[in-house]
Amino acid sequence: MKEKLYTIPVNDAFHEDCECPVCSMYRSIEQDALRFTMSGYMVEERRAESDKVGFCEKHLRSLYAGEDRLGLAWMVKTHMDHIIEEIEGRQSETVKAASFFKKKAEPSGLAQYMDYLGHSCYVCDKINAMFERYLVTIFYLYKKEVDFRKVYGESKGFCTEHYRMLYEMAPTQLGGELLQSFIKDTNRLYLENMKRVRDDVSWFISKFDYRFKDEPWKNAQDSIPRAMIKLNGILPPENKK
Ligand SMILES: [Zn+2]
Ligand SMILES: [Zn+2]
Repeated sequence: MKEKLYTIPVNDAFHEDCECPVCSMYRSIEQDALRFTMSGYMVEERRAESDKVGFCEKHLRSLYAGEDRLGLAWMVKTHMDHIIEEIEGRQSETVKAASFFKKKAEPSGLAQYMDYLGHSCYVCDKINAMFERYLVTIFYLYKKEVDFRKVYGESKGFCTEHYRMLYEMAPTQLGGELLQSFIKDTNRLYLENMKRVRDDVSWFISKFDYRFKDEPWKNAQDSIPRAMIKLNGILPPENKK
């Protein structure tokens, strides 16, 4: 079966005025995943899945910031029911002392279960499945559409994490000259735009010097939030869709 491509939202993200179009794509997928999660608390199979995996800290906070407290209460309650049952069943295991040669004890079933719980999130799972397809779509458009290649090459670059993802994924999606031009474009976009935002922050600092007090701000005023996107993919809330 041919996997679905997401040419419209990917194109839209690259037409936005943003310091990382991939962050913007990620956020719209995340918001859909949060809506999907909240809309599913009465759907038995969906809640059975979220009862099992639970939520990461970030997404539990996002769900709490939403409007449906009753829906969230249901999800939290039945997830807790599930955890209590799983943990109760594992507490009867005998805890063995660590062997002389190993510093750490073999993880017990209980420890393994708690480790799993600490890394699992229903919302993250939904996002990741979708996000991968969006990334594949970027390469598909780069390969097939000259117009997209142009928009890509004129974008404002990426945050470090999404630059890494594009760079690492490129050889699995493209070959020959297209691969070389993609890497060249992506390397250039990352560095040029990191330097541009770094220079904006640098001017922000200069503006605190009395000698530059009457100079214009240029692009420095919002340079810290833009640097936060470049460094850690933190989009400002006003870009919320
Ligand atoms: Zn990003
Ligand atoms: Zn999560």
